[in-house]
Amino acid sequence: MARIIFLFILLSNTNILYVFSQFSNPSSYRLSPDATCGGLNGTEHNFYCPNYDCCSKNGFCGGTTAHCGVGCQPDYGVCGIPNDGLTSIETCKTNNTLALSLDDGLRPWTNHALAALNESGIKASFFVNGHNEADFCIYDHAEILQRIYKEGHLIGAHTWSHVQLGSASPDEIDFQLDTLDLAIRRILGVKLRYFRHPFGESVMYPYLRKALIRRGYKYIALWDVDTRDWATDLETARQSFPGLISDLKPHISLMHDRINTTVDSLLPYAIDTAKKLGYEFDTIPGCNGQHNKSDWYQVVGKPEKRDYKTWHCNPSDMNGGVL
Ligand SMILES: [Zn+2]
Repeated sequence: MARIIFLFILLSNTNILYVFSQFSNPSSYRLSPDATCGGLNGTEHNFYCPNYDCCSKNGFCGGTTAHCGVGCQPDYGVCGIPNDGLTSIETCKTNNTLALSLDDGLRPWTNHALAALNESGIKASFFVNGHNEADFCIYDHAEILQRIYKEGHLIGAHTWSHVQLGSASPDEIDFQLDTLDLAIRRILGVKLRYFRHPFGESVMYPYLRKALIRRGYKYIALWDVDTRDWATDLETARQSFPGLISDLKPHISLMHDRINTTVDSLLPYAIDTAKKLGYEFDTIPGCNGQHNKSDWYQVVGKPEKRDYKTWHCNPSDMNGGVL
């Protein structure tokens, strides 16, 4: 009998210790499979956020003020917004304004996006990669990049091959930033001030923030309207779009010019829908009061002519890149 009681106490204690450690040691939590985290709708499910993302009070992973500021859940991710010289831009400040942003280009059909924007006199924002699919290399589309620049749209960096930065080593981060920066400098003669993280992830990664600051980046461009063109079919994205902006508040919308149906169908439809709702359009810096191009770029030289010996993309650069 004594032995049974002893065993019971041992099990009880073990159980208590185990439960305690589950709630005090994040290493025993599970990585969030779906960007939910912490206490969601009053239910603990112990998902923690991917590297350096914050868990919001409502139980979602991300890197905005709503995720990392008041109510952030420190047991399930990082919390706090450093005052280090990098500023996150999460929406537009100008009333009635929509900032269209297009990611993951360049592609040959990015020219179609420029034509649609020109037709309506719209300035947009492009966050470009260098080599994020085997068939596409930024050096092959240098003229498109120069056209975006000349036509007054914002160009921001989005890494060389669209890796998940939260799990990238410092060396990989340096490579991802430097290889794209070099291409931009050769093609445009500028350094970029705006950066957008692939997947919007790991905005609070300390090494990455320092690496961006060292290279002259000033602004992290996030978004508050996701068309989900990357996740759904074209028709679903089109049907969802009016509801995303029906509150008539200023917004930054996310879509992808690497997807040809986005460029040829969703973008014109979004422009038309937003116009009918009474929206005007601007770039991300423009709708935040930055009309001076020195806030967008630092001029460091002149555009160069292509040197085919050195201006090329290496297929092995895409190791780890994900779209
Ligand atoms: Zn992207």
